[in-house]
Amino acid sequence: MSVYAAQHKFIGESEYDSYSDYLKSPHWKETKSRFLSGQIRQCAICKEKRWLDVHHRIYKTLGCERGEDLVILCRKHHTELHELARNMSLESALETLKANREWEVAQKRKQYKQAKSKNKKQKKKRGKKRKRKYKKRLQSLFR
Ligand SMILES: [Zn+2]
Ligand SMILES: [Zn+2]
Repeated sequence: MSVYAAQHKFIGESEYDSYSDYLKSPHWKETKSRFLSGQIRQCAICKEKRWLDVHHRIYKTLGCERGEDLVILCRKHHTELHELARNMSLESALETLKANREWEVAQKRKQYKQAKSKNKKQKKKRGKKRKRKYKKRLQSLFR
């Protein structure tokens, strides 16, 4: 079932007029704060600590969400996830974002390592050059 269909079904069976109406309800606010109180407040993808949303991993339990049905995401990743979820399930979208992030981090780590070792080599080279110059100067002094 698509996210929209699931929301629609839930709203049809509930007292709420719309999904956004549900998100404003005291019930959801309470569920959310109960969930957040047991969590480290950071995005599950990038560890961002600001602009956080609580995302529904599944919509089947709307109205009686369990902790494992929810996940904290930053606004950016929450938007990206719902864009991805147009063409795949919510869970695959979350997995895709996580995998992408891991790849990005691995690439950055690699680049950093390469830059570091390049720096080292250059320093070594420079050191050798300096030594050679110094030697030449010494030799010229004693010539
Ligand atoms: Zn994020
Ligand atoms: Zn969401």
